[in-house]
Amino acid sequence: MHIYIHIPFCKQACYYCDFHFSTSLSQKEAVVEAICQEIRLQKSYLKNTHISTIYFGGGTPSILDETSLETIFSTLHQTFTILPDAEITLEANPDDISVAKLAIFKKFGINRLSIGIQSFHEPHLKQMNRAHNAKEAETCVKLAQDAGIDNITIDLIYAIPAPDHQILYSDLAKVEALNLQHVSAYCLTIEPQTVFGKWTKQGKMPNIDDDFSAQQFSILVENLQRMGYEQYEISNFARNQHYSKHNTSYWKQEEYLGIGPSAHSFNGVSRQYNIANNTKYVQQIGTGLIPATLEILTKEDQINEYLLTGLRTIWGCKIEYLDSILGSSFLDLQKSYLQPILRAGHLEIIEHTLKLTEAGKLFADRIASDLFVEE
Ligand code: SF4
Repeated sequence: MHIYIHIPFCKQACYYCDFHFSTSLSQKEAVVEAICQEIRLQKSYLKNTHISTIYFGGGTPSILDETSLETIFSTLHQTFTILPDAEITLEANPDDISVAKLAIFKKFGINRLSIGIQSFHEPHLKQMNRAHNAKEAETCVKLAQDAGIDNITIDLIYAIPAPDHQILYSDLAKVEALNLQHVSAYCLTIEPQTVFGKWTKQGKMPNIDDDFSAQQFSILVENLQRMGYEQYEISNFARNQHYSKHNTSYWKQEEYLGIGPSAHSFNGVSRQYNIANNTKYVQQIGTGLIPATLEILTKEDQINEYLLTGLRTIWGCKIEYLDSILGSSFLDLQKSYLQPILRAGHLEIIEHTLKLTEAGKLFADRIASDLFVEE
């Protein structure tokens, strides 16, 4: 079983980000208390209390001090059995990483650090309003490695408007020198509610060019593979099978409990979405209620979600599992949609599993939606 904990605070707002967070830290203690209360309230959400992965996401979890982490971890240990080999990931921003902070992370058993580097290029960091600079982007990884954290992943953003691909090549050279276990690479997307969204609407910023982003993605994949990274999910690359166990659980439709404002939970048949508002979250948790919206998944929802996430991974989608949800043959039902995709060489069936080919990876989301089942 898996637990996600959303820490909804950031030092400053990155101009591309539409996650749920607040830059006012005045409610930090109250939210931490409410998170602990929700952990207790949700004890029986999962089928069993043995936890194999915990993921602190956000927002910026590295903003938490020792006292807050102590409060959350002691509640987790009182409520669940955290397996001795559990993967415990915390998202950290480079400007929060110090020798002292790393010692605190290790004290609580955090054994995987996900560092939000995004870019090593100073003008790009400034353009995105990141709180760290290019030097910190490099030094934070070395600090974490020196502290003995041997499972480090970084986030990179590609397709940031630029005259050519030189900045990306330079970022990739830095990645190579850092000798990381894992890299996640995401295409810059312009979300309407963000500063970038407003700038694009006002014509102050160009829209993301599809050809440019496709070229950048190819450069990324080619170079990360050359460095020994396996593209085990379209946006995720691991060396020596250092896959993210937590994220893999999402892609394999395993059950997880999401705690904190805006967090989602999944128990196999339904999803629930916590309210994305810190004040209302604290108030409602205080009354003993989970402020969540429930969505019962139809069998079509379950199949379509599995197609959307599973096809993006090296594990693909198991036909037996699709058949079991559908109650009949998926291949028979979707024959007319499948044939052209198979003929185009974008998809193959290997050992009763649907898998994208290298060429198909470029069209992953479209292929999944072509195979969606309708009610
Ligand atoms: S990208 Fe991360 S650090 Fe930046 S605003 Fe979003 S959640 Fe906060």
